[in-house]
Amino acid sequence: MTFSLTVSGSSSALPTKDRFPTAHVLNVHERLFLVDCGEGTQIQLRRLNETIKLSRLDNVFISHLHGDHVFGLFGLMSTLDLLGRKNDLNIYGPPLLGNVLDDHLKYFGENMAYKVIFHAVDPNDNQKIYEDKNVTVETIPLKHRIPTCGYLFRERMPPLNINKEAIGQYGLSTEDIVRIKDGEDYITPTGEIVPCRALTYYPYMPRSYAFCSDTTYSEQVAELIQGVDLLYHEATFLDEMRETAKQTGHSTAKQAAEIAKKADVGRLLIGHFSSRYDDSFLVNFEREARSIFPNTEIAEEGKTYQVREIN
Ligand SMILES: [Zn+2]
Ligand SMILES: [Zn+2]
Repeated sequence: MTFSLTVSGSSSALPTKDRFPTAHVLNVHERLFLVDCGEGTQIQLRRLNETIKLSRLDNVFISHLHGDHVFGLFGLMSTLDLLGRKNDLNIYGPPLLGNVLDDHLKYFGENMAYKVIFHAVDPNDNQKIYEDKNVTVETIPLKHRIPTCGYLFRERMPPLNINKEAIGQYGLSTEDIVRIKDGEDYITPTGEIVPCRALTYYPYMPRSYAFCSDTTYSEQVAELIQGVDLLYHEATFLDEMRETAKQTGHSTAKQAAEIAKKADVGRLLIGHFSSRYDDSFLVNFEREARSIFPNTEIAEEGKTYQVREIN
């Protein structure tokens, strides 16, 4: 069962010759969730079409109304139309995004063959805003210059598997197995009750991914994302620019790592690097973060990360 993240953009406000602004694609059991949509995202996603099948994208989550997180949405909506999309596209984001979409669609959406459905979220509150049979999504309030939230994706419990030995031991029929997998206890022909938990197991524990876009250091964030498998946290600057980070509503690599450590996450991915740093310099971000939280990686565009390996 897939639960993986592909990074499409890793830069901050000013795109560089090597990096696009923020966009992440989460694959949950072969359905795609796009988180933020910086300028040029549709170009990146077309390039990545071996891994990213745009027909599987139905839900887009926007963290805040800064251009480097949302300008790509307008190009993407047009691209999806040109690719023949018919299904509704759901877009989640702060309330003002609804006004922007209304205006945009007034001019450019008239002949679009699919519907855009906007869902306003409250960026200041931790709320469950989406669920389906595989995953739930919650908002994570962040501290930035304008209302901003991250998104926390939690996989639901996978379906139960039956112990192979139990099938032989109790002579279970196909119907018995279906009922037991649904959570029922088994009653033997002599009336003995065998609890479901003695006959079944979960093939793996649910996985989780937290996306924390633009934010200053916030311990409240660490509380909300305790124990997630994979955390993406912005790291716009190195710690020598801690004051600038604070003034502009951003974090340093060291601060991102401190949040990862406090939240006891499995792995940390950092990105949203300021354009003042070129690619060869990014190793310094990794080094700084790893001094606090060793299991840190630089978000690499085009790379797919397993949220957690399962056997
Ligand atoms: Zn940004
Ligand atoms: Zn921002």
